[in-house]
Amino acid sequence: IKIKTKELPIPVAFAAAFEGEIIRKADMHTEYWSGKNATAELVLMRDPSEIEDHKITILGDDMDGGEKNYALCTFIEVAGAKMQADFESVIERKIHAWFNYMEGVMHTGQRNQVRVRVSNDAFAKGLRLKHFGEVLYHMIMDEFDAVVDKCQVTLITDEAAAEKFRDEVAMPRYNERDDRLLSMTDESVDRFYTCILCQSFAPAHCCVVTPERLGLCGAVSWLDAKATNELNPQGPCQPIFKEGCLDERTGRYESVNKMIQEATHGAVENVTLYSILEDPMTSCGCFECICGIEPVSNGFIVVNREYKGMTPVGMTFGELASCTGGGVQTPGYMGHGRHFISSKKFIAAEGGIERIVWMPKELKDDVAERLNRTAKELYGIDNFTDMIADETICEDCEALMDFLTEKNHPVLGLEPLM
Ligand code: SF4
Ligand code: ZN
Repeated sequence: IKIKTKELPIPVAFAAAFEGEIIRKADMHTEYWSGKNATAELVLMRDPSEIEDHKITILGDDMDGGEKNYALCTFIEVAGAKMQADFESVIERKIHAWFNYMEGVMHTGQRNQVRVRVSNDAFAKGLRLKHFGEVLYHMIMDEFDAVVDKCQVTLITDEAAAEKFRDEVAMPRYNERDDRLLSMTDESVDRFYTCILCQSFAPAHCCVVTPERLGLCGAVSWLDAKATNELNPQGPCQPIFKEGCLDERTGRYESVNKMIQEATHGAVENVTLYSILEDPMTSCGCFECICGIEPVSNGFIVVNREYKGMTPVGMTFGELASCTGGGVQTPGYMGHGRHFISSKKFIAAEGGIERIVWMPKELKDDVAERLNRTAKELYGIDNFTDMIADETICEDCEALMDFLTEKNHPVLGLEPLM
């Protein structure tokens, strides 16, 4: 990554090295957090006549306004002859890295789930929101100069205005993007994409991103991978043309294997797109969830990163992660994104979502609507999530079996996995 630090008119250092910086509560001057106030991050494509280049506006108080917590909507409008709506989310995702590159700033999340902390030190050095605007402007004009000719940044901290922006501008746009993907299937496209962004710390890892299977970090959809490739043809996302189908059930393709071998420099030879037992995809370290085999029920559990408790397989998320990550293939265990759970392609070779027997409650509630819709479509089951156990029902496999029997969970009628 090339960073022209000198050109950035900000009072703190700016470098990739600050990305892992953690700002504790005691060192924190200001926090913008979706848990307390409205947040959103949105990049929108505009007509050049609609925006003013390098205009930076702050609606509401800056961080010297006297409060500790504020709303924050980061609204970036861009225009350019070669700009496409599909590039919006690719630029938007960079906000995370760029905010983190500022010394004394910590950023997590995306879209309307965001947390930004600014340290006392950074504030004392004079860092203010207008500098956030400068960082965004300069980095976009630097990294996306091929498609962006004009860029305007608005930062909203006024709570009422932020809520209005989030609900009336940002959310509808996120939904539009998700809906576009929802109507696409793996069968409806002629290519998938690799993503090797995580090779910096997992050198043997490569995600294969398809319309129905997003990257395991949850942040790279097929449309994002496609846009990334168009913006940077030599970059981390390369097309895999769907050629030489060897097995439809497991999603095994000659062309996928060939690309995986190239992308991992021979470390991985074969992967399937839809199986967790037969040559599953590798997992780096940043998966949102882990799916793992539960041998007593012949089912699978799914655990999300935020869940700290025990699971019926006798391992926590951390323990499962230590035997799943690092870019290796571990049949029976697999890292994946949250959105993948409700996909018709989720562990499809092993029977699909009707093998899911347990999930932490928060995760289950989060995916319920879409998971139930998929279960209804695939198997005609209503309210499928009522049959899936969670930590409020059981954390061990005996109680799990009692629950599944009581609910007449469909896994009980399926063939053994091994
Ligand atoms: Fe790319 Fe996969 Fe890493 Fe996400 S987890 S950034 S899709 S390699
Ligand atoms: Zn990763």
